[in-house]
Amino acid sequence: MEDLNKLVRSNIQRLQPYSCARDEFKGRAASVFLDANENPYNAPLNRYPDPLQEELKKKISEVKGVATQSIFLGNGSDEAIDLVYRVFCEPRRDNVVAIAPTYGMYEVCADINDVEYRPVLLDEGFQLNAGRLLAATDERTKVIWICSPNNPTGNAMQRSEVEKVLMEFKGIVVVDEAYSDFSSYRPFRNDLSKYPNLIVLNTFSKAWGCAAIRLGMAFASPEIIGYFNKVKYPYNVNMLTQQQAMEALNSMSKINRWLNILATERVHLLPAVAELPFCKCVYPTDANFFLAQMVDADTIYHYLVDKGIIVRNRSRVALCGNCLRITIGTPQENCELLAALRQYK
Ligand SMILES: *Cc1c(COP(=O)(O)O)cnc(C)c1O
Repeated sequence: MEDLNKLVRSNIQRLQPYSCARDEFKGRAASVFLDANENPYNAPLNRYPDPLQEELKKKISEVKGVATQSIFLGNGSDEAIDLVYRVFCEPRRDNVVAIAPTYGMYEVCADINDVEYRPVLLDEGFQLNAGRLLAATDERTKVIWICSPNNPTGNAMQRSEVEKVLMEFKGIVVVDEAYSDFSSYRPFRNDLSKYPNLIVLNTFSKAWGCAAIRLGMAFASPEIIGYFNKVKYPYNVNMLTQQQAMEALNSMSKINRWLNILATERVHLLPAVAELPFCKCVYPTDANFFLAQMVDADTIYHYLVDKGIIVRNRSRVALCGNCLRITIGTPQENCELLAALRQYK
């Protein structure tokens, strides 16, 4: 890996971060807080939240097996995605490489930050080829984006190819594991010490059932996390979100029950959809959704909308011609979907 200080934008290295009242005073017990111009009434909402979310990180550390200094928390994974650009990519000069098709936010954030985005198509089995990704890089490539299990294809990337990218690329490699809880593969967050250039993304939005609270996680070396903390908004994760996240972390048995139900539903739903006369194929998945190639995705999409069932039409995405992306729902919802599809034409 290239020296981290050479990868980080020079203005970010020089940046003197905002110092908030809660940063300045730490430790010793105090009972009178007159340092942050807060209203003394309306407790507990009157107080600014912990800017570094230390209590929450301790709990996440236990559940995820990642040291607290290697954890960044943001307003959804989307904040971490944007921060990768703001920390590493010089607008109009640097570029990033990404697998394609994949999650749309990597490209949107590249566009917002005026950074060149270089998509590299997966193969027909939706697998990435390390050599082809690396061949798309040059001396101005700061970041490679990998998503595994990948959205919208659903499959996990072959570990050996991801490892090859991690070992051979001198810049930052982001592995977005938003769906890893639905997969049986070893998550890359376990290998942070092996790869100093690795950033792993996780989220509360999928397996943990908390999309509404907007909480995303990035796991990386303490040095990389230090740069994220320097650039983020001071109080980027609000108190209500921190409280709800604590509740979710204390309900792991409930979350595991959900995961078991969804895994069983996935086993039943995929072949049932594959059997439909107008379904050409269902792609294998390691996530809580799957891609189904239809004879005519647009027509089926609108037919389902008329029945009040919304799936994602991905038919205009590269390699996904005539594909619908279908999320696994409750047993009841999946039944309704199948019943509607079986009535089609
Ligand atoms: C849904 C999803 C996320 C989650 O984003 P949040 O901002 O944390 O809700 C991240 N990455 C991928 C690939 C996703 O599909």
